Amino acid sequence: MLGPTIIAHGTEEQKQRYLGPMLHADEIWCQMFSEPAAGSDLAAVQTRAKKNDDGTWTLNGQKVWTTNAQFAAYGLILARTNPDIPKHKGMTMFIVPMDAEGITVRGLRQISGEAEFNEVFFDDVVIDADSVVGGEENGWGVGLTTLMFERLAIGLGSSSFGYRATRFAEAISADPVAANDHEVRHNFGELAAELEAIRWTGYRSISALQDGQIPGPEFGLAKVTTVNCAVRAGDLIADIVGPEALDEASEWSYMISFLPGLKSAGGTEEILRNTIGERVLGLPPEPRLDKGIPFSELRAKEKEGAAA
Ligand SMILES: Cc1cc2nc3c(=O)[nH]c(=O)nc-3n(C[C@H](O)[C@H](O)[C@H](O)COP(=O)(O)OP(=O)(O)OC[C@H]3O[C@@H](n4cnc5c(N)ncnc54)[C@H](O)[C@@H]3O)c2cc1C
Repeated sequence: MLGPTIIAHGTEEQKQRYLGPMLHADEIWCQMFSEPAAGSDLAAVQTRAKKNDDGTWTLNGQKVWTTNAQFAAYGLILARTNPDIPKHKGMTMFIVPMDAEGITVRGLRQISGEAEFNEVFFDDVVIDADSVVGGEENGWGVGLTTLMFERLAIGLGSSSFGYRATRFAEAISADPVAANDHEVRHNFGELAAELEAIRWTGYRSISALQDGQIPGPEFGLAKVTTVNCAVRAGDLIADIVGPEALDEASEWSYMISFLPGLKSAGGTEEILRNTIGERVLGLPPEPRLDKGIPFSELRAKEKEGAAA
């Protein structure tokens, strides 16, 4: 997610310095976008970056849900650099060395037992002038590139996450009751077909990338489909294996307990469905949810208006 972002928006020096070690996993990176009050509404980011007289920047604020921050050498951070202009415009993306003075990383434990997320606190953290990625006040555009690649990565990831039809088939075959159950066989057939469709959609996405295309809103579809398919696969396995599927030693436990989280990662299903509806299918925007007015009330008002 972050490598392609630097390829798309970074300076030549940034590409030379960071991409090689990132590719070889000599330097792990993390993505610091979400905050306690900025998730789906990412443009509400409040972490501040102030420019100093010598061109360096000082960061103050907090990020949350930062995957692998505890292992990261560097992170890409979305910060507010101009609070006086519309919120989407006043943000800038920076590269931050995670060992900089003033950074505190605190782990968050999940139901799976892992603590792969973190809170990250920034207390007067000074970063270099050349750490800006994609130009000042262009953070929103740079962030969207990362999110598109994240959705694509999750959308392509079904096989590497372990959602392989052959693997599920083995588990079903090992249980004679499940193997002869009509409903299980039916559900598995549907799942296997969907996994195959996801695989081919993935190849189409990769071909588009090879042609130089940056992933657009349509790649949210791959993410939604993959995650829903994965959740159904987890349900199927849990039905067949029973509660032991969640035992620590079970080969399925991580997959099953981790799956629900993927619904939110990289943009929630609701947000992505709105984006697909509006930006891929051309439906009119849905202002009603933002304003918090119940649909039934709006319909009633519309009817009143029409009658008048
Ligand atoms: C596995 C995982 C890994 C993650 N890793 C990272 C990471 O490394 N770095 C990082 O920055 N973030 C990370 N995140 C955070 C992720 O990006 C956020 O969880 C996500 O953007 C949703 O934000 P939120 O959790 O604040 O939920 P909220 O935005 O508070 O949403 C809560 C619910 O309200 C719904 N909702 C909100 N607004 C609307 C709307 N306008 N219309 C309809 N429904 C709406 C949402 O769909 C959701 O169901 C990770 C999350 C997960 C689960």
